[in-house]
Amino acid sequence: MAVGTQATVKSLDPVDLREIGAPMILGNAYHLHLRPGDELIRDFGGLHSFMGWDGPILTDSGGFQVFSLEGLRTVEESGVEFRSHIDGSKHVFTPESVMQIERNLGADVIMQFDHVIPGQSDEAAARDASERSIRWLARCVAELERLRAGGPPPTTTLPPPAPLPGTTFPLPAPNHPQALFPIVQGGIHPALRRDAARAIQDSGSFSGYGIGGLSVGEAKPDMYNILEIVDAELPRDRPRYLMGVGFPEDLVEGVLRGVDLFDCVAPTRMGRNGTAFTRDGRLNIKRAEFRADRRPIDAECDCACCTRYSRAYVRHLFLADEIHGLRLLSLHNVHFLVSLMRDARASLLRGTFDGWSDAWLQRYHSRTEPAPA
Ligand SMILES: [Zn+2]
Repeated sequence: MAVGTQATVKSLDPVDLREIGAPMILGNAYHLHLRPGDELIRDFGGLHSFMGWDGPILTDSGGFQVFSLEGLRTVEESGVEFRSHIDGSKHVFTPESVMQIERNLGADVIMQFDHVIPGQSDEAAARDASERSIRWLARCVAELERLRAGGPPPTTTLPPPAPLPGTTFPLPAPNHPQALFPIVQGGIHPALRRDAARAIQDSGSFSGYGIGGLSVGEAKPDMYNILEIVDAELPRDRPRYLMGVGFPEDLVEGVLRGVDLFDCVAPTRMGRNGTAFTRDGRLNIKRAEFRADRRPIDAECDCACCTRYSRAYVRHLFLADEIHGLRLLSLHNVHFLVSLMRDARASLLRGTFDGWSDAWLQRYHSRTEPAPA
């Protein structure tokens, strides 16, 4: 999933995303609640309509953002009080209020509100947060059922939006059913992860499962170990979503361990910083060695950047501070990850994934990235 935290995948238009073949994008309940407000988005017919994207959307609950506000929050069993990073105003998120926000945003997949902790938390802290997340899941399920059963219907103060240009299927109605994904927490502690995965399944049947609290400062082997434990516990016929991951190598390693869905700001953030993913590892386009390089960023990539422009041109755009450069590398990086997942899926279907992933990882790691110029 390409990340569109603020109802936009930075510098890319939904038309670009369609051309890339990006199947699904991600929005964020915390950011969109604070600005422009989830009720405003609801009044525009939901996030799909507001941002002009007719494909599937997943919204993250904001747990990660709220718990990242060090010193700006107090955690209680009822919920979390925090101050906005924008204007310092005071807000409270509870499992119920987050369901209301995600209902207003109207995404297809909505994440539960969970208690997120730093990656290296000790077992006691990880257990406390994981068990609270499971109690909060029950409250999310109950609230969503209440809302679905026709609780207060959304008040639409504006006329319905005009059909979007190029829209090939109708936008979801404001009250369309939404799939709630629980989130398996438990830090880097295998027993806690196992307990969480089991407790979540005991609490109901879900369309898919989030795996949270990884890629937050723990060592890679710890992340892989936890993925293998969770892989063995979760149902095989439902998608597993590894939240906030990742880089190309993380995607391949994740798929190896049973993960289906990923999201990460890396492709656009790194793109804006001048870093491109290639099949031979990362490349910093600002380096002097690319000054007169006629080759595309990645010779095997068929994105709109690689089929039209040289490394020398993209480097020039970055050195000249031209906005087109940020856009081209963001586009290339998102395209790179989407086509990587497409290749992974094709090799899984052919039954050749093990050999494909070995070769892919070996080539990707073979070229060590030189130090920045
Ligand atoms: Zn490309």
